[in-house]
Amino acid sequence: MLAEIKGLNEECGIFGVFGHPDAAQLTYYGLHSLQHRGQEGTGIVVSDGKTLKGFKGEGLVSEIFTAEAMAELTGTAAIGHVRYATAGGGGYENVQPLLFHSQSGSLALAHNGNLVNANSLKHQLETQGSIFQTSSDTEVLAHLIRRGGFLQMNDRVKNALSMLKGAYAYLIMTETELMVALDPHGLRPLSLGCIGDAYVVASETCAFDLVGAEYIRDIMPGELLLINEDGLTSERFAMSTTKAICMMEYVYFSRPDSNIQGINVHTARKNLGKRLAVEAPIDADVVTGVPDSSISAAIGYAEAAGIPYEMGLIKNRYVGRTFIQPSQSLREQGVKLKLSPVRGVVEGKRVIMVDDSIVRGTTSRRIVSLLKEAGATEVHVVISSPPIKNPCFYGIDTSSKEELIASDKSVEEIRELIGADSLTFLSVEGMVEALGQNSGYCLGCFTGNYPTEIYPDTLQYYYQKG
Ligand code: SF4
Repeated sequence: MLAEIKGLNEECGIFGVFGHPDAAQLTYYGLHSLQHRGQEGTGIVVSDGKTLKGFKGEGLVSEIFTAEAMAELTGTAAIGHVRYATAGGGGYENVQPLLFHSQSGSLALAHNGNLVNANSLKHQLETQGSIFQTSSDTEVLAHLIRRGGFLQMNDRVKNALSMLKGAYAYLIMTETELMVALDPHGLRPLSLGCIGDAYVVASETCAFDLVGAEYIRDIMPGELLLINEDGLTSERFAMSTTKAICMMEYVYFSRPDSNIQGINVHTARKNLGKRLAVEAPIDADVVTGVPDSSISAAIGYAEAAGIPYEMGLIKNRYVGRTFIQPSQSLREQGVKLKLSPVRGVVEGKRVIMVDDSIVRGTTSRRIVSLLKEAGATEVHVVISSPPIKNPCFYGIDTSSKEELIASDKSVEEIRELIGADSLTFLSVEGMVEALGQNSGYCLGCFTGNYPTEIYPDTLQYYYQKG
């Protein structure tokens, strides 16, 4: 499904390089391949070993980094960020990496995820005299690190990280070091690679392919990896860790050419589709997927069901950035602009339409009606994940609970609302089993069981928004 029209948005992608003469250029290309994780702002901070220098702006990577801007970013280490803004809101000052200068040195931060205790920590820090420059919860970490005073940098960072709750994949850069940290549940993906003697770190491995890096391993939950002139040092800031990677990374967010925890995303989606065909066998003529993220699941469904996969919907790639329009009516218009049914494929046919998820339901209703207008005699909607009944507190903008159609409606009620002839969701057990590892996932938005404690101020924020 199209992230921009669905109401389900990833919050960020991060990329870092240490020990390469073209650090900023590599970061630029890395951010390009992570652009699907956030389109509202982007930035790069580079280090030449003595100073940190940054450039950032609101917009796409290709719009912000002109040749002139890139020419200024010289150095051998860099971190970069692409942002989709929810927590803390948009605005130039919240575009990352955040860069701080003080008498003891400079610090740049890039964060993917969302802290669930950011407000409590901010309040605590402000009463102790900290002044925040942004409304982004990422800045909390900078203040906590600074408070560490006389300790060694790695100990200051570890102490600071141990106070955070929620989802975080951090890149932290000083003049001479790149530090990489992942929360104790490993909620967001983060991988390490190399190009010769240089190291690269990225939210998704698809970024490695683009810059010619070799994958080494995933960052471990609770790990602080230090990368400096002496090479790599792995330390831990959390001893008690329980892996709970975001299931939606497999279902929807990540690119199909990325591997997360050793599982290829396209293959994972195909397996979800295969499992769906077992759980929801339907007598039909063609299977089609909603581009782009549902195509793998549709291929899997078709393969397992023995029904031909056809391209029944195509995406118009040259629509422009209509996704920044927030209103419901514009969102619905966006569906019309971005997707077209292929009449020659669906006319007179009983169609199985595979989608990865249903958030508000408005998009599904439009697509079902597009297929029927194009002559489909029946449209059966099958969803390669269970109903999303609960909000996400970890950096995925799933809208408020009130906006989630499955939070208070039965499957039959949703079917009726979207105008489908039948509607089936994948079961939670089926989804987990299809991925081949029986544990290690966050399933919070499906089951309401979250891997971390959720703080009252965070709950208040989520139930008020929308
Ligand atoms: S609640 Fe859902 S979207 Fe959020 S991290 Fe967990 S699985 Fe992912």
